Amino acid sequence: MRSFRIIPVLALAASAAIAQAPASSPPDNAQPTAPPAIKSFDLSAMDTTADPCTDFYEYACGNWMRNNAIPSDQSRWVRSFSEVVERNRYLLWQELDAAAKDPKSPLQKQYGDFYASCMDTATIETKGIAPIQPAWAAIAQLKGASAIPALLGDLESHGSPDGFFEFGVSVDLKDSSKQIAELSQGGISLPDRDYYIVDNAHFSTIRSQYIDHMKKMFALAGDTPDQAAKEAAAVLEIETAMAKASMSRTDRRQPANVYHIFTVADLDKLTPAYEWNTYFHGIGIGHFDTLNVATPDFFKALNGLLQSEPLDSWKSYLRWQVLHGQAEDLPKAFFDENFAFFDKTLGGQQEPQARWKQCTRLTDASLGEAVGQDWVKQNFPPAAKDSMEKLVASLEKSLGDDIRTLPWMTDDTKKAAEQKLAMFRQKIGYPDKWKDYSSIKVDRTDFVGNLHHVSVFDQNYNFAKLGKPVDEKEWRMTPPTVNAYYSPNFNDINFPAGILQPPFFDFKADLAVNYGAIGSIIGHEMTHGFDDQGSQFDAKGSLGDWWTPADHKEFAARTECLADEYSGFQVAPASSEAPAQNLNGHLTLGENTADNGGLRIAYAALLDALAAQGQSIDEKIDGYTEAQRYFISFAQVWCQNQTEANARQYALIDPHSPGKWRVIGSVRNFDAFSKAFGCQKGQPMVPVKACRIW
Ligand SMILES: [Zn+2]
Repeated sequence: MRSFRIIPVLALAASAAIAQAPASSPPDNAQPTAPPAIKSFDLSAMDTTADPCTDFYEYACGNWMRNNAIPSDQSRWVRSFSEVVERNRYLLWQELDAAAKDPKSPLQKQYGDFYASCMDTATIETKGIAPIQPAWAAIAQLKGASAIPALLGDLESHGSPDGFFEFGVSVDLKDSSKQIAELSQGGISLPDRDYYIVDNAHFSTIRSQYIDHMKKMFALAGDTPDQAAKEAAAVLEIETAMAKASMSRTDRRQPANVYHIFTVADLDKLTPAYEWNTYFHGIGIGHFDTLNVATPDFFKALNGLLQSEPLDSWKSYLRWQVLHGQAEDLPKAFFDENFAFFDKTLGGQQEPQARWKQCTRLTDASLGEAVGQDWVKQNFPPAAKDSMEKLVASLEKSLGDDIRTLPWMTDDTKKAAEQKLAMFRQKIGYPDKWKDYSSIKVDRTDFVGNLHHVSVFDQNYNFAKLGKPVDEKEWRMTPPTVNAYYSPNFNDINFPAGILQPPFFDFKADLAVNYGAIGSIIGHEMTHGFDDQGSQFDAKGSLGDWWTPADHKEFAARTECLADEYSGFQVAPASSEAPAQNLNGHLTLGENTADNGGLRIAYAALLDALAAQGQSIDEKIDGYTEAQRYFISFAQVWCQNQTEANARQYALIDPHSPGKWRVIGSVRNFDAFSKAFGCQKGQPMVPVKACRIW
């Protein structure tokens, strides 16, 4: 329902389905086991028979890739991220399991009961589809398309998914001190609009598999085969029309494309078939006169659809949104069928995750700042925060030095860039003030009900921001999360406790190893403030042009260099079933820019840190110079295996490049790399023309 504008270092959710409705259901007896310790710098991961100047990714990660097959419950496996996710999840599970059995505080009682309700598959089976029946009954009563706004208001105020579009309160792109209502496209179930509209054999096979999947789901819920087939066809028709009217992910990356302030009266004129005031009243948001309609063309098309589609098709569409949006929360038969299509067919994942893993993830996603309070006490020493603050300060200094010495930027723009850097805020570990979840009713025997209560809480929490000043201290990730993000509207960088541990950050490792891993991630987040998107926001986080025209031109030429380079990287070869899939250099431009700058800035900070200790970058440890260790440590963060299906899907939806190309794309453009490994111009890792932005 709400869209937060944050830029994580790695994609958060595997598909639209997972983003809509987090985990749940197969009765699964797999027992949790403690994951192994994770090495921060692993010589055994390398393939030293490979030539680092020909394929540095193979050199740094080759043995790891051969020795670490993708676990059957994953569709990709990233050496650092996935392993730490599993470790954090196990530690969190211990906490949840103990709280479910013997809570020691009201907080523990709440999240322990939530976790227990998710684990209680017997009760989930007994209830069948009863938890979604009230929503389906309301849909059955729908008298005409004109009653849809009231119906959506009713469904959302009870925490039910319903498709159609995204609505919520967001920071005003042009005035980051204000929070305004925002309306954006949505309503489709497949991971991207391309799945509906690209005309080739690969996608048309997926569309027919999607039809089969919908038929099976409707039949499981009790519809006759005829009904199920009719409903599935209606859903695909409506979702396809919505997909056609949607703006591409790449176009949505440009803030100007998604900023259109409308009065509510003008919105009514845009979509006379949809009564907005009825809807706004129904969902319980306060009064407002203007809002951002991010994608007006979508709503214009929706208006036409509301007039042309028959009532029965809308009922089918809504029934599907309710069923699909909660498929993972229903009995095993629904969960399994949903898994078979969305995770196995589309993502290449072989089997679902164990129940305890799903319930742990879901409890964190639902009550993260309750669970996180206890988690950080156990797993985040105050010393980690101090060290991290020092690291961030050293990276800030080197980014400042970098800006001052940039060969292509004029002095006026440099000054503005330095001001923006000086205004950067940082959040490390966990929030100063925790969210108060005490109003969320949690019942140990009502899993879907609990999810509904959480959804309503989240929605009201978001709506309460309307017209209020921005809360700069709020976090958009929970403490155990293994990720980091930059927010252009807040101009802040954020590092949850979950990522501040080996192999990212290791007290015992040498400087080069830490700067290569967590240092390059900090540099990455900082560079987001100056990527093709972030550079359009000023020091206060508002859209504003602080660039001279000459610098604009230079910047565009440099980012195009990167976009061209990455568009040439192939993630899946052509086969009899599907054409070759390359990366989209413009979809991934912001992330690639951040990788490109992050690696350079962290390296400069490492040089400073070594100098301060009287050490040289050429000193050797275990046979590798500090410079070489830096680049190997950076690469080993991104060692990765992924299924081909996952690679194809992510190339369409993920603004991040896969590990291999993050590593190769970054080192190719940095002369310190070729120097460290003695590579020559013209070798695969040293292009004749390198791309450099920051
Ligand atoms: Zn990023």
